[in-house]
Amino acid sequence: MTHRIVVVGGGISGLAAAHRLIELGRERGLAVQVTLLEAGERLGGSILTEQRDGFLLEAGPDSFITEKPWALRLCDRLGLSSRLISTNPGQRNVYVVHKGLLQPLPEGFILLAPTRLWPLIRTPLFSWRGKLRMTTEPFRMRQNVDGDESLASFVRRRFGREVLERVAQPLIGGIYAADPEKLSLGATMPRFLTMEQSRKSVILALWSEQRRSRARRSESGARWSLFVAPRGGMQELVDAVSSRLPEGVARLRAKTTEMSWDGAGKAWLVTTSQGKFVADGVILALPSYHSASLLSPFASELARDLEAIPYCSTATVNVAYREDQIPRSLNGFGFVVPAIEGRKIIACSFSSVKYTGRAPIGYVLLRAFVGGALQPELFKRDDRAMEDSVREELSSLLGVKAAPLFCRIQRHPRSLPQYQVGHLELVQRVEQCLRKHPSLALAGNAYRGVGISDCIHSGEEAAERLLERLTIK
Ligand SMILES: Cc1cc2nc3c(=O)[nH]c(=O)nc-3n(C[C@H](O)[C@H](O)[C@H](O)COP(=O)(O)OP(=O)(O)OC[C@H]3O[C@@H](n4cnc5c(N)ncnc54)[C@H](O)[C@@H]3O)c2cc1C
Repeated sequence: MTHRIVVVGGGISGLAAAHRLIELGRERGLAVQVTLLEAGERLGGSILTEQRDGFLLEAGPDSFITEKPWALRLCDRLGLSSRLISTNPGQRNVYVVHKGLLQPLPEGFILLAPTRLWPLIRTPLFSWRGKLRMTTEPFRMRQNVDGDESLASFVRRRFGREVLERVAQPLIGGIYAADPEKLSLGATMPRFLTMEQSRKSVILALWSEQRRSRARRSESGARWSLFVAPRGGMQELVDAVSSRLPEGVARLRAKTTEMSWDGAGKAWLVTTSQGKFVADGVILALPSYHSASLLSPFASELARDLEAIPYCSTATVNVAYREDQIPRSLNGFGFVVPAIEGRKIIACSFSSVKYTGRAPIGYVLLRAFVGGALQPELFKRDDRAMEDSVREELSSLLGVKAAPLFCRIQRHPRSLPQYQVGHLELVQRVEQCLRKHPSLALAGNAYRGVGISDCIHSGEEAAERLLERLTIK
């Protein structure tokens, strides 16, 4: 018996799902016929790498995290590991804009918590009162908050307002392009919650975590930095997965417009701009609002929850210069901009410093981020106005007055889900509702992680679950 499975959405989540289905079919000797339907002209979704005049431009993600195993494991299976490169080890500084100047994030600062005293004492980022407030964290009482808590509330009560406004908001808020007052701690940074619950103090828990990981690293000899990227950009990952899909599996320009369950034939009917597909199982690897509109005719409760996950929009602005046009040394990965600074960019990567091969020798590539949940109006600016405001900020913060060689703006409308307070409960309700539809699965960045590695995990898990259910019927 052949299991016909349709995967809707050709971003990394859908690609990982389709790839895993084919892998499992081979491993288990099952006949699995996979069709991957993508509305656009290309696969990859938010991932897109472009080459221009010797520069390598990332439109979306530029790397993935190695602490979570799924992306690395997929690269291994694809034979892509030898193509991965670590971040530049000599330039790991990250800067924070403070009163219009770039200040290095104090050494040992981990997203929202300081772990080293001397760099904290020396930094001009915080006032003396703010520093004192932070260092008393180990003596602060653990608090049992009823239900989920916002990231902002957690950081304020453990470390004080300055850490929230000057570091946690731009660093963590930056990952999700989100408002930390609304962001769920449990859904985004559960490890800090566990630290408070189990060790009573985030700082003490981080110290013992660091000791353990130093011991592990010296035993095993760490191979990768925290973030890695394929040498030729993130597109290599997309191309490597796509090349493993048998011919005819991926259908481009195939926007799914409707789906319905045919009870008599015990199959799904998936309608697309390229015709209809019959399937025994369907994986929707789409932004949740798109899944909601496909599901609402027959699963209104599920659709309501999916529709309730808010999204925000961001743009990346790649700007290329000659080295001699940059008046200061770019010794770091880039800088983040706290919202209280009132500027027109969220962050800026020094792309050609962070990874080798992003710009020709003698040139520099910078990448600014615009928009997000806190500045939606800036995302709506037209290209001309957006370029002007990015250049204005680069001039004011880095002293770059010269006209760039080129500037490439790429927009990601409604691309980043916002895991708001209560998100995990919502996801549990969604999973509960899905039990009524055993031949349907959801994957993507809307549920249990927005990073590439999480998306790969969600796609692979959906493939495994669905195939399991179809084969034990
Ligand atoms: C600017 C930016 C920078 C980022 N940086 C990083 C980073 O450095 N590291 C990291 O780990 N993560 C990063 N992320 C997050 C990560 O890139 C995304 O969460 C991830 O790529 C999402 O993949 P996805 O497949 O779930 O969704 P998407 O990439 O959104 O793919 C969904 C696909 O579904 C298709 N589709 C939509 N509707 C239909 C339909 N009706 N029929 C058929 N197809 C349809 C779309 O065309 C799209 O191709 C970043 C995200 C953005 C936007």
